[in-house]
Amino acid sequence: MATAKQRSDAVRARQAGKIKAILQTKRNPLDIESVSNCNACINLSADHVPSEGDPQARIMLVGQSPGATERDRGRPFVGASGELVDQMLFETGIRREDVYITNALKCKPPGNRKGHPTELNLCRKIWLSHELKSVNPEILILVGKDAHQSIVGDKFPFKHCRSVKGASGRTYLSIYHPAYYIRRGVIVDFVMSVSEKLKELLGE
Ligand code: SF4
Repeated sequence: MATAKQRSDAVRARQAGKIKAILQTKRNPLDIESVSNCNACINLSADHVPSEGDPQARIMLVGQSPGATERDRGRPFVGASGELVDQMLFETGIRREDVYITNALKCKPPGNRKGHPTELNLCRKIWLSHELKSVNPEILILVGKDAHQSIVGDKFPFKHCRSVKGASGRTYLSIYHPAYYIRRGVIVDFVMSVSEKLKELLGE
């Protein structure tokens, strides 16, 4: 009879095989069928939300994970927070379809929990790294502290509208999540602060 260690080694080996197979497939993060085929995370095999927007965008916007509205509509950054993002882009003079919009996790975690570090690492390996390489945005907007933490970790501290230039020349712009402004009833502050900063970064 297999020991507990042998059983857990077998589970790990199966999981590693599954991830290797996914990495060998042709993945399209903009296509719901392609994203839905990913079952790399043991507890996140449902509720996939693909990315959307221009695959050659200058700006990429990344949240941490889809919420219930995103899951229901199958699109990232929709609902009340998405509307604020749209207003901010409009104020900056950018069309939503000209931006690449995604999440660090392509699946909604159950309940209101955050993504686990293992899930975030896996999704980065399978999807986000691939997206960053192929879109190669000049400006990467990290929406909310969780997205900031998931993507840049402790490389620089989180602060609203702080921008940092990475070694590759890419600019990282961290912003508070729009939900924070909605809760406080100060949505104009979000729109104006982020659009002014973006205009400055775009040299306008
Ligand atoms: S969170 Fe990402 S890696 Fe995990 S199952 Fe969903 S798409 Fe795959």
